[in-house]
Amino acid sequence: MRTLITGGAGFIGSHLCERFLEMGHIVICVDNLITGALSNIEHLRTNDRFAFIRHDISHPLEMDGPIDIILHFASPASPVDYLQFPIQTLKVGSLGTHNALGLAKVKNARYLLASTSEVYGDPEVHPQREDYWGNVNSVGVRGCYDESKRFAEAMTMAYHRFHGVDTRIIRIFNTYGPRMRLDDGRVLPNFMGQALRGEPLTVYGDGSQTRSFCYVDDLVEGIARLILKTFHDPVNLGNPDEVTILEFAHEILKLSGSASAFDYRPLPQDDPKLRKPDIGRARELLGWEPKVDRHEGLERTLAYFQKKVAQQRK
Ligand code: UDP
Repeated sequence: MRTLITGGAGFIGSHLCERFLEMGHIVICVDNLITGALSNIEHLRTNDRFAFIRHDISHPLEMDGPIDIILHFASPASPVDYLQFPIQTLKVGSLGTHNALGLAKVKNARYLLASTSEVYGDPEVHPQREDYWGNVNSVGVRGCYDESKRFAEAMTMAYHRFHGVDTRIIRIFNTYGPRMRLDDGRVLPNFMGQALRGEPLTVYGDGSQTRSFCYVDDLVEGIARLILKTFHDPVNLGNPDEVTILEFAHEILKLSGSASAFDYRPLPQDDPKLRKPDIGRARELLGWEPKVDRHEGLERTLAYFQKKVAQQRK
């Protein structure tokens, strides 16, 4: 099997490269490295079944030979990143998705789109099920990401319905683990970096907003299962264990043994107040549910960030 992974040098993409190599596939990683990093895939480059192509999938990509699976994961994905790259974010969700689907069509490849819980916006339905259409502000600061992914879902369904491409769509809820960037601006790298440096933890708003955090290995397992199924409607993948951001901050302080204080900052525009996946569909379809609880996942991730913070000090 030859599997092409766009965004393969990113946080989730690099874990997918690893997993599909373990499954015996040939893996072609395509990334333009604007938010991904070669260091994420350095350990894979000696594997003769692994290839890296530096390319922006927002431009067409022609490939020789067969491709059996395309996993389209390229996109800035943290609020700080997509605020810095709003046009690239819109382009990779639209033009990039079009190009990846075009490749899937000519190669007759199975295709999986990485969509996001952001398609639900600031949800009025809780927990979020796949049949909820969402509450998105198209002209707000998060609109560039939310709408690009909503467009990507619509384009994926159009290629499935019109061209018969064998597509899948996952909606990824907050995911964490090793290889997140210390400076990606997300809550977990921020809090861990701040706790380890003894700086105050920046809590946005009053910290009563909730998120539900999924360890990356669990997400990858869900993807590996879905690629074997023929199912075209969206599937939520995430951990339903919901926590307020303030509770989360306390958990990280305790785990890291840090005495950092809290620095309350204004809540960013359109920051979703609640987020928790309903994973009934994934449970039934894939027999899947997350296995790594937050305590264990946070311990593993803290070990990774301890090294990163130590490297920064050097
Ligand atoms: N957040 C926070 N402090 C930070 C970074 C984020 O309190 O330093 C909050 C943010 O306002 C949001 C939640 O943590 O409510 C998760 O933010 P993140 O950027 O990780 O991703 P999101 O789930 O909003 O896409």
